[in-house]
Order: sequence, then C-alpha cells, then structure tokens
Amino acid sequence: MEKVVIIGTGCAGLTAALYTARANLNPLVLTGTMPGGLLTTTSIVENFPGFPEGIDGYELMTRMQKQAERFGARVKFATVESVDFSKKPYVLNVDGENVETETLIIASGAGHRHLGLDSEVKLEKKGVTYCATCDGALPMFRNQPLVVVGGGDSACEEATYLTRFGSIVYLIHRRDSLRASKIMAERTLANPKIKPIWDSVVTEVLDVAQDKVTGVRVKNIKTCEEQVISCAGLFIAIGHVPNTQIFAGKIDMDENGYVIPKRGTETNVPGVFVAGDCSDHVYRQAITAAGMGCAAAIDAERYLSGISQ
Ligand code: NAP
Repeated sequence: MEKVVIIGTGCAGLTAALYTARANLNPLVLTGTMPGGLLTTTSIVENFPGFPEGIDGYELMTRMQKQAERFGARVKFATVESVDFSKKPYVLNVDGENVETETLIIASGAGHRHLGLDSEVKLEKKGVTYCATCDGALPMFRNQPLVVVGGGDSACEEATYLTRFGSIVYLIHRRDSLRASKIMAERTLANPKIKPIWDSVVTEVLDVAQDKVTGVRVKNIKTCEEQVISCAGLFIAIGHVPNTQIFAGKIDMDENGYVIPKRGTETNVPGVFVAGDCSDHVYRQAITAAGMGCAAAIDAERYLSGISQ
C-alpha cells in the first residue's frame, strides 16, 4: 500500500513530490497523459523566481522532476482511470490495475479550452492547434498568415512566438482590450507582425472539404459583420478546463469542475488533498501551483502522522 499517491507532474504535483519525498513518504507520482503539465508547452518562463534570464518551460519541469526523484519520488508514466473513496485505504485504478493508498494529492492540472466548433474538431492537427510552442515551427505554418484566438497571457505569448514563423499573425479577441498582464499586452500590441482584430469571434474554420486550414470565418459581435481571413493555422489560446472529470460526484467541485478545498489543501474527503490549476481559477501561475503543491504535501504528511499517533 502507498502512503502518498500524487496525480499530476506539473508544478503542483512535482513540488508535492519533492516535499513528500523529503518527508520519507516515498511518493508514487503519476504523470497522466501530459508529463510535466502545461508548462512544458510554454517557451520561456520569465516569472518563476530564481531564473533572472528566464527558463525554458520544459527544462524547468525536467529539473523539478529530477529534484523530486533525487529524494526518492517514483515518477511513473501512468493515468488514473477511476477512484474509489468509499472505504480506506482508497483505491485508484491506474491503467487497469488497482493501487491502494492512504493519502492522495490531486494535482491533475487543466487542459486547453476548445471553441466548440465542429470544424475545429475536424481540422485539429490539420492546422488547428492549442500549442504554438509545440507546433508553430511546422513547415505548414512557415511564412504563412496565422491566426491566434484569445486575449489572455497565453494568446499574447502564442502570437508573439508565432511571429518568428508566420508572415503575419492575426490576434482575434472577443472584446476590445486584452485580459493579459500589462507587460505582455504592451509587448504584443507593439509587435508590427501582430494585427489585433477586436470584438470578434471565429464562427467556422475553413476548409473541412480540403481537410486543412485555409482560413477562418470571423464575426464582429458588435456590428455582426462577417469576414474570412486566409490563414494556414489557427492557434486557440482561450484558457483552460480543470482535469477533474474522474472525481465528478466523488469530490466537492464548483460548477466549472474546479475542486473546492475545504481548509488549506484539504478536500471534503479525509486524506485527499488538492493543489494547482485543478482547484485554482484565480491565480493559475507556476509559482502559485508550486506553493499549493508544497502546502498539500505538508497537509498530507500531518494527516499521516495524525493517523499513526
Ligand atoms: P485566460 O487568462 O483565462 O484568458 C483566456 C482568454 O480567452 C480571455 O481573453 C477570454 O476572453 C478568452 N476566451 C475564453 N473563452 C473564449 C471563447 N469561448 N471564445 C473566445 N474567447 C474566449 O487564460 P490564459 O491566457 O491561458 O492564462 C491562464 C493563466 O495563466 C493566467 O493566469 C495567466 O496569467 C497565466 N499565464 C501566464 C503566462 C506568463 O506570465 N508568461 C503565460 C501564459 C499564461 P475574455 O477576456 O473576454 O474573458
């Protein structure tokens, strides 16, 4: 039986792994389908303290994993399919096998939000993508007009990154001002290769018949005017949804699927703790996720020592 299982290897999960490993709890850390979490899809992380020149997102996560492993964390490429909290020890179904554990830290993060268009689904990986860092350098996007949707830090980051490859980058946002942090917004709007298109939404990705992206149909929500913008790629950066589906009905969540912590990182299930983007729709930073991971590890450690006392 495990003392601590951690679901997720983003900033929250790996920090929880580091702290529980250093507490000699020998944590089992399950990666899910995206080892390293969303930060691995970022280019340079400029706001993680301790790296004045910035650090590549993938490198930061690789270092965090090494640091946790150095103290005995066991990181396994595996996905939790279901959980049973009806009796102790809790049982997790991990890729078809049962794993029993005294405590669980949920740090399952969040995934990309989709626009919800049929054409978006049909053209995914055929020009529709959710990650400029992963796909931006593909030959199909080189020297072509590209479109980014969104108005947050992610959209700004993606648009700026894509100016390296595209001939022009259209930034389509549903309002007339960016939600992004001031520094990112200013940098983005000052870039001569980025053309903002305000108050507008993508209503269709073209062209499903050709089985590749050739453009997007865009509607101005104030004037209702429509236009088609030719492009070879559509990069969607409109936020995230928490990866908490397997806990539905088993853990208290809000209406958007974010786990609701009760006290500190405790959930409504004793011995089950939560950290990071799967429970945080307010701060959502690498450093806040890491801080929550640390807190969850300390809470799990205290819970375990309470049990054994
Ligand atoms: P976000 O801040 O939630 O922004 C999402 C954007 O997408 C918003 O502008 C929103 O519009 C728009 N949007 C949402 N649903 C939409 C829909 N269905 N159709 C069209 N547009 C839609 O998400 P994010 O940019 O991914 O950032 C998430 C968190 O990570 C933030 O806290 C951010 O600061 C952080 N982050 C930081 C960095 C960095 O500092 N380097 C980089 C990336 C992300 P509205 O504005 O109208 O709501």
